[in-house]
Amino acid sequence: MKIVDIETFRPSGHANVLLLRLRGEDASLVGHGETFYAASSVEAYIHDVVAPILFSLESADPTSAVAALTPYVGYLGSGVETRAISAVDIALWDLHARSLGRSVSQVLGGAVRDDIEIYNTCAGTGYVQGPGGQSVANWGLAQGAPGPYEDLHAFMTRPGELAEELVEAGIGGMKVWPFDPYAERHGGRRIDRDELARGVGVVEAIRAAVGDRIDVMVELHGLWDLPTARRIVSALDGLDVSWIEDPIRADHLEALAALTADSPIPIAGGETVAGAASYRRLLAADALDIPIVDPTWTGGLSEAVRVARVAKDHGRPVAAHDCTGPVSLAVCTHLSLTQPNALVQETVRAHYHGWYADLVTELPPIAAGRISAPPGVGLGLEFVPDLAARPDVSVRVSQRPGPRSVA
Ligand SMILES: [Mg+2]
Repeated sequence: MKIVDIETFRPSGHANVLLLRLRGEDASLVGHGETFYAASSVEAYIHDVVAPILFSLESADPTSAVAALTPYVGYLGSGVETRAISAVDIALWDLHARSLGRSVSQVLGGAVRDDIEIYNTCAGTGYVQGPGGQSVANWGLAQGAPGPYEDLHAFMTRPGELAEELVEAGIGGMKVWPFDPYAERHGGRRIDRDELARGVGVVEAIRAAVGDRIDVMVELHGLWDLPTARRIVSALDGLDVSWIEDPIRADHLEALAALTADSPIPIAGGETVAGAASYRRLLAADALDIPIVDPTWTGGLSEAVRVARVAKDHGRPVAAHDCTGPVSLAVCTHLSLTQPNALVQETVRAHYHGWYADLVTELPPIAAGRISAPPGVGLGLEFVPDLAARPDVSVRVSQRPGPRSVA
């Protein structure tokens, strides 16, 4: 099918969120995509570079379109080019599935499970919603009115109570990142004894409050060097931590492999890594126990499926990311339901019960600590009808040149 329209949407309160909608020559057929970080830069790349290529294709199926869009420079990382292609690839899968009257899970070969266990990433409503990247300054703790679940503030100040709330809500796991302020303070090169004790104290308080009734994951955001990461891993040993995530940047492959070899706690990571080939190198080096993948960053759903298969071929599970947007959560859910080695689906209840519903008509249902795909064709969601008209949403449109047939 030819693509005739590309629309991008940037909601002003969410500086990093970029939503994308493709329209096929049959105007009733649309596909939805999304990516996160540097939204205006990705948007410019989509309209300046991606659009002319996409419009030149007689048939924009995901596989052929991504082959045509893969750039000479920029394919090796999860930079602007790859994030743009990720959003487009996801939208093409949505459109492709809709054109067949099927769900994305069905066109991927079918679901192997009806639902999958979730865990709660303990972010708050404003987490990384300001301009800029993943840093303590962009935690959003002081931004505007508090949302329904300010779980980041809660894990830093009352982790035991938060764990009790989550257990009560039937959520089986929680992820926290109490060491980040100290990493920023010292450039990841050291951690003082009292800082180490405060970070470990968050997990100790969770265990004291709820015992073993919740899984605990500790996120380190790739901020540490090898010796300091070793100190943190060692200090967390004995607290039944399910995984330590991204202790060291994924491109420091030998250091990550050395840590993983010694660690008594499984090492997870990879959400910022682009492309299955990069995961293959990480897994061949035994640098990760639990690969994490984000379709909106790694190159799209096409690439995320390849990542899941590479993980499976290396005897590893795969865990899908989401802390970034509603389309991301939907596409990750379809991925998790269709990949035999999917372990668990990340969710953020502050976003799920907060701003996600401002942007889309449906979210993947969550019940009894498990998530399933929204019913319906494609990804199972659409953008809210008034999205393009909203004063808080910036819209940019590119249209295929020449005569258009409108159904
Ligand atoms: Mg993460």
